[in-house]
Order: sequence, then C-alpha cells, then structure tokens
Amino acid sequence: MEKEVNRVTLSYASYLAQVESRIQAACERSGRDRSELQVIAVTKYIEAPEAQQLITLGMHHLGENRWQQARAKWESIGGQAVWHFIGHLQTNKVKDVVGRFSYIHSMDRTSLLEAVQKQAEKLDIQVNVFLQLNVSGEESKYGMPPEQLFAFAKAASVCKNINMTGLMTMAPYETDPERTRPVFRSLRKLRDELNEASILPNPVQHLSMGMSNDFEVAVEEGATWLRLGSVLLGR
Ligand SMILES: *Cc1c(COP(=O)(O)O)cnc(C)c1O
Repeated sequence: MEKEVNRVTLSYASYLAQVESRIQAACERSGRDRSELQVIAVTKYIEAPEAQQLITLGMHHLGENRWQQARAKWESIGGQAVWHFIGHLQTNKVKDVVGRFSYIHSMDRTSLLEAVQKQAEKLDIQVNVFLQLNVSGEESKYGMPPEQLFAFAKAASVCKNINMTGLMTMAPYETDPERTRPVFRSLRKLRDELNEASILPNPVQHLSMGMSNDFEVAVEEGATWLRLGSVLLGR
C-alpha cells in the first residue's frame, strides 16, 4: 500500500516538474514573470489520498467542478488547501459551496450572483468571484455573453460580500492549441475594457484561463490562474 502511494508521489512530482518547465518557457517567450501566475490543481479525477499527495508536493490551490465529487475530499483534507469551484454552479448548491470554496470561477448569471451574495452575507464572509464569459460563442459552453459584462459588473459592484477578482473562460478544444489564442486574447481585452470603464471600485486583475491542452498559449496571452488537471496527473 505504502509503495503504491510512493510511486504516485514520484510520478506526480515528475509531471509537476514538466508542467513547471513548460510554464517557465512560456513566460520567457512572452516576457512575463513566473510570479504573476498560479496553478490550480484540478482534482476532480482523483480521490483524497492522491489529492493529499499533490498538497505535499506544494500544490495548495485545488479545483473541483462539482460539490458531490469534491465533498469527500473537502471533508478529509479541506483545511490544507484553498478551494476553487470551477464547474457550472446550480443555485441549489450555493449553500454547499459558499463558505467552503474561497473562489468561484464559474459565475455566469446575475441570479447566481445574488444567491452567492445572500449566502456570503449570512455567513459574514467575502467570496472571490470570476465572471465566466463565453468568448468563443460555442453553444455547448457555459458562460455569459461578453455583451453583458458591464451590466454584470454594475450588479457585482453593489454586492458587499463579493470580491470580483477577474474573468474566466474555457477555450474550445483544439488539436492545434495555437487556435485557442484569439479566445484568450479576447478575454484579456475584455478585462482591460472593464477596467477602463471604472464600474468596479477596484480594477480586476485576474484571468482564469488555460487548461491541460492549451495552457502555454494562455500563459503567453496573460493568464494569471491556470486550471490544470490531466497534465498534472499524467492522464
Ligand atoms: C476539468 C476542468 C479543468 C481541467 O481540465 P484538464 O483538461 O484536465 O486540465 C479546467 N477547468 C474546468 C472548468 C474543468 O471543468
């Protein structure tokens, strides 16, 4: 049993090292400082003991896209990590997620914003929120249409328990990751336009973009949070 865990740790360490050197190289290509971005280890494919190994290797930000899948992990190792909710969030799950996840990356509608604000106020906490935008216009993707960004920001600016920290998007899967570049570039442009409009009390800094298939392009286009699953776990 112990042997098994050691083997897993060893391979996670080597996957992490490979990902790290690819991030470093993308930073160098684009003149960015590595300290500008952070990695969220997406643990939806694995159980608590493996997630624990990632924490031991220094990954302190964990991402999950469903409360049902996250629950057992959160209950056993929750206190050792900062949790990011990255999947579509149903309103009836808000009470499970708010208070446990410090960041919600999948904010995609005003009704959800109001539900999160209400629960956060009840618990007297601040919740960090990324607005998920459907930049590519793909029908199958969740996310708010970019045209609604300013209206959403206005609504968020009066929510006392919401800290709007950035924008999030998912690029369509491409066999050639280079083709995701326009999506990431658009998200950055939308962030800059939002800040120029001065709707929020503070400028939003962050861009949550880049997954296993396309993270290097996302780094080159200004990502500050990468959400990485399969590439970290060797899948
Ligand atoms: C699963 C998931 C990821 C990680 O995907 P990988 O391709 O395995 O890196 C990132 N973001 C979201 C929203 C996800 O659901």
